[in-house]
Amino acid sequence: MKTSGRGLVGVIVSAAVALVLVFVFVNGSGVFGGKQAPERADKQGKTVIGKTMLAAKDSVCIQQIAEVRQMIQVATDPVEEKRPANLTEAHVTGALSKCPIGHEDYVYDPETGEVHCQHPGHEKY
Ligand SMILES: [Zn+2]
Repeated sequence: MKTSGRGLVGVIVSAAVALVLVFVFVNGSGVFGGKQAPERADKQGKTVIGKTMLAAKDSVCIQQIAEVRQMIQVATDPVEEKRPANLTEAHVTGALSKCPIGHEDYVYDPETGEVHCQHPGHEKY
């Protein structure tokens, strides 16, 4: 009984150690003085993996805005240069009208026809 009890504790301890290692790996919190990727403007993604995935979403945002700009151009009257009053009028709806990271609605200025992302770090997209 006692032996098997100790065995179980051993398993639990090794499982706990494994969990801590996974935690440190996933969070990359620099516990061991490891090098950290530069902080993002939106303070998201504390890990290298997280930052890599967010960087991929950054480029999705760039692509989406490019697409939205095209759709606005298509929806703009070529003769009178009358731009759509809002993104819905340009048929920009759903996921395409929002930042893929923060889900902030894209800001559209009907005066200039400019579209921008409000997400921190995406202002220049
Ligand atoms: Zn964005």
